[in-house]
Amino acid sequence: MQFKEIVGQEAVKKHLIETVKAGRVSHAQLFLGPEGSGSLALALAYAQYISCEQPGAEDSCGECASCRKYEKLVHPDLHFSYPFFAQHKEDTAQTFIAQWREAFLANPYLGLDEWRNSLNAENKQANINIAECHQILQKLSLKPFEGQYKILIMWLPEYLDKEGNTLLKIIEEPPQKTLFLLVAQHQEQILSTILSRTQLVKIAPLSDVEIEHYLIDRSVSPEKAKQLAFLSEGNLSTAMSLLGELESDNFQLFTDWLRMTFTDKGPSILDFVETIAKSGRENQKAFLRYGIQFLRDCVLILSGAEDLVRLPENERTVALNFSQKVLSLAKAEAIIDELEKAHYHVERNANPKILFLDVSLQFVKILKFNTIPKGTHYIQN
Ligand SMILES: [Zn+2]
Repeated sequence: MQFKEIVGQEAVKKHLIETVKAGRVSHAQLFLGPEGSGSLALALAYAQYISCEQPGAEDSCGECASCRKYEKLVHPDLHFSYPFFAQHKEDTAQTFIAQWREAFLANPYLGLDEWRNSLNAENKQANINIAECHQILQKLSLKPFEGQYKILIMWLPEYLDKEGNTLLKIIEEPPQKTLFLLVAQHQEQILSTILSRTQLVKIAPLSDVEIEHYLIDRSVSPEKAKQLAFLSEGNLSTAMSLLGELESDNFQLFTDWLRMTFTDKGPSILDFVETIAKSGRENQKAFLRYGIQFLRDCVLILSGAEDLVRLPENERTVALNFSQKVLSLAKAEAIIDELEKAHYHVERNANPKILFLDVSLQFVKILKFNTIPKGTHYIQN
């Protein structure tokens, strides 16, 4: 990961590079920034710069042997620690390193939910356990293999159990040429004993303008880019997933679906089920998320809070139309409930044909026959 691959954050990059040039690299640093700000990517680019054999004035070279290993996250002096779901008490972060590399390389802005999903962890509690703390002590007691420095990047130290205190001594007096880069989102959830031993590197959320430029570079129209930047609230990961949703043009498909279930058009519903079933899990999830967003905006319209609606003009017109002619608050809430349940089941690999057919039938009941399914407890109006 090179600095130039990271969106924005110019002041932080400059500061980090200065610390290396001035030989003032603090041995324990806490990168603190909200999800999607790029804090993990920055820590990795910093580590790569420190380890680079021919660092330039503003970035690592990207070509030396060290950089090439860094690009694949396989440098022997680069260590990662992160929350995981132990199946056995001897499991450590190393047990999941293959999934970790894959998840980070696919999205260096990944958040905990995305990481959790890639581990198929159901509802288990993520943490950094005592076995992992011992593993860290052991790894860092070894001499560096190649690089000048051994570097440990710990993502989300918020999830360190109180056993994390076993790391205090090594953080305070690390072996020579050892760096700790902690990457956190919530300062107040970190063990205070660890917090007090680290130097803070504060990372702000990305600005709307930075996200807008990122989207425009990916051939999004300036108007749409502005809107998505606003919706993503400084989180580049959100911006990327919104972009994905945009690309598959869910608006048309979703509103067609509402129309065909409202009029109970059996053959069209079966065609729709065929189409969506073939589109793949990620697209189905994006489609359902789009539907939830669309219906939430209908709820706003139905509640008289129309100025809060974030849909673009053409979609807003359709949402208004649906709200006036087809929906009521109770129906909109019941549909949101169905969509949320469907999203849950798609994530857990439900058969898409059965699932979308079932949801379609629920929509027919709600929209055409005014029946709110059992088990939903929404305001009746
Ligand atoms: Zn290099």
